[in-house]
This record gives sequence, C-alpha cells and structure tokens, in this order.
Amino acid sequence: MPYLANENRYEKMTYNYCGKSGLKLPAISIGLWHNFGGVDTLSNARKILRKAFDLGITHFDLANNYGPPAGSAEETMGILLKKDFKPYRDQLIISSKAGYYMWPGPYGEWGSRKYLISSLNQSLKRMGLEYVDIFYHHRPDPNTPLEETIGALKDIVRQGKALYVGISNYNAKQSKKAAEIADKMGIKLLLNQYNYSLFDRWSEEDELLTTLKQLGMGSIIYSPLAQGLLTDKYLKKIPDDSRAAKATGYLKKDSITDEKIAKASQLNEIAADRGQSLSQMALAWILDQDVSSVLVGASKVEQIIENAAALNKVSFTNEELAAIEAILAE
Ligand code: NDP
Repeated sequence: MPYLANENRYEKMTYNYCGKSGLKLPAISIGLWHNFGGVDTLSNARKILRKAFDLGITHFDLANNYGPPAGSAEETMGILLKKDFKPYRDQLIISSKAGYYMWPGPYGEWGSRKYLISSLNQSLKRMGLEYVDIFYHHRPDPNTPLEETIGALKDIVRQGKALYVGISNYNAKQSKKAAEIADKMGIKLLLNQYNYSLFDRWSEEDELLTTLKQLGMGSIIYSPLAQGLLTDKYLKKIPDDSRAAKATGYLKKDSITDEKIAKASQLNEIAADRGQSLSQMALAWILDQDVSSVLVGASKVEQIIENAAALNKVSFTNEELAAIEAILAE
C-alpha cells in the first residue's frame, strides 16, 4: 500500500528554531544509529519511520557509519525515501555525518577535506539524494587544522550538497573556536549534536548549552534515554530483544549496573507520580532546558509513540527537580 502521511501530523508536535537560524526542528527527532541497518528488518524500520513522520517528527538523523554494516542505514533510508517519503522530501530534514572510521587507509576517517567531501558523496549516493539538509563533522579531529575542516563544510554548502552544516561531539571550547573560524569564512554552523541525559551530565560542567546559545547555535541531544537505561525496560532484567542483549548493540551488558537500575527505579516512581513513563520524563527533563531537539532511537513503533507523547508534559515543579537530583546524587 502506498504510504499516505497522516493529515494531522503537524498538530501535536512542537517545532523549535534551531539557534539563530530560520530552520525549525521538531522537539523530538529520530535517529537511525541502531535498528535500521542491514542486520535489521526493513519492514520494522519502515513502520517506525512512517509512524515517526505521522507524529510530526520531520527530522531523520543518519551518519555514514550507521548500520551495521557501516553505510547500510543510509541504504535503508534510500529505499524508504523511494518507497514512502519521496513526495514528502521537502517536509523532511535529513542529516548525515562523517568523522568516525568509514573505510581503510588515511582518508577514511577524522576531518580532512578529502575525507569529508568523499564521504558525503558516498552518503548522497546511498540515500539517492541530491543534498542532505544538515551535514555534520562527527567528532573533533586533533590533527587536522580546524580551518581545513570548516573550509570543507563551507564548500559543501556552496556546492549545494548540504543546506546547513554543523558539528558533533565538540565541547564548549572547541565549539567557540569552530564558530569563530566559520564566522571568518562567512558561514554559519547551525548546531552541535552531543550526548546529554539524566545519567550523563558532562555538558553541564562544560557549560556547553549556554555557550551554544551565546554563539547563536542550536543544540540537538543524542542518547537522551542513555540508550534505553532511562526507560522501564531494564528494571527487572535484560530483555532478549533489547540493545544490551544484541551482539550488534553499542550498549554493553556491564553498563546495566545495579546502581543505575536502582536509580532508574526511583526515577520511574517520580515519573509515575507525574503521570508519565520514565522515558517520557527523561525526555521532558531535557526539553525543559530549552534545547532545539532531542534525538531518540527506537526499535519498535510503540516506543516512538510513547516518546512523542513526552510533549504532553514538559515542565517540572521545583520539588520534582529537587527529588530527581536527590536520587541522582545518592
Ligand atoms: P536513546 O537514548 O533514545 O536510546 C534509544 C534506545 O532506547 C532504543 O533503540 C530502544 O532500545 C530504547 N528505547 C527507546 N524508547 C523506548 C521506550 N519508550 N521504552 C523502552 N525502550 C525504549 O538514543 P540512541 O542512543 O539510540 O541515540 C539516538 C540517536 O542519536 C541515534 O540514532 C543517532 O542518530 C544519534 N547519535 C549520535 C551520536 C553522535 O556521535 N553524534 C552518537 C550516538 C547517537 P532497544 O533496542 O533496547 O529497544
């Protein structure tokens, strides 16, 4: 059956301006890091992305190396663009990245002009696209002059291969330097993509969000559920179909510690008192801090439905915030 997107898809989603730009991102975006590769089922991937778009999630996030095997998530996206989303291309924000290892030899990772431009050309081919909406440098490169990396991003925009460019996993100091160089080159870095969650607070100490706001850059948060730890799924055991149980999952069983589970159980009670699931509260807690978007993953269609409903309640009382901090400080 041809896919016809839900007519009411824009009614419930919130869209935020991304930094000082004209681009709005959905408060909740979806990432294709896990569950969309060659090892996964295409029909499930298709169901999840259709539902996501039906819920107003207009942003699909990819990278050259997502799979496994590396590259296969972009191939899946290419198939689904052709089968389902072609008529909606102008209603979608599709991103990709390069920075991590992609192919052997000296030109297959990090931040050289050679690597970034070749990698984006490959990504476009895999997805059957003429351009991506956002292209990121995926991680800082200590050895390539930042002028070369940002210069490559600039040329990628000039060539029409990306509408916007951004950085990922850059800390506050690195973001400032990148923005300064971009400014001198006459381009704008749209946003920074980095990890943040109730369990992962490095960016607070780094004052990254405040810095990005000062720079006029947007912020999109990855692994907001700590890869599933901030949901109710691991509270009793490690389910067989979970990321932690899968050989190809990045979340390792030994990250599911008793301490984390004890904290997640207590957080789950606060969420229940708020009338939310733990995953919804974990997303709301980030959205309440005025980021541009939270970037979730999903292995099942039900998860994306549950997560999108986090928007029903994003504000917190001071008492709730204090109770959350008390649990995390234990
Ligand atoms: P999350 O923290 O949202 O974890 C997603 C996983 O949690 C799902 O795959 C699922 O795992 C589980 N889950 C999600 N919702 C629920 C729910 N309601 N109930 C129970 N379990 C749930 O994010 P990810 O770690 O997947 O990262 C999101 C995206 O961020 C990636 O796809 C990618 O696009 C981006 N990213 C970027 C990085 C970068 O360096 N720039 C690095 C990492 C991610 P399960 O399989 O167990 O069901």
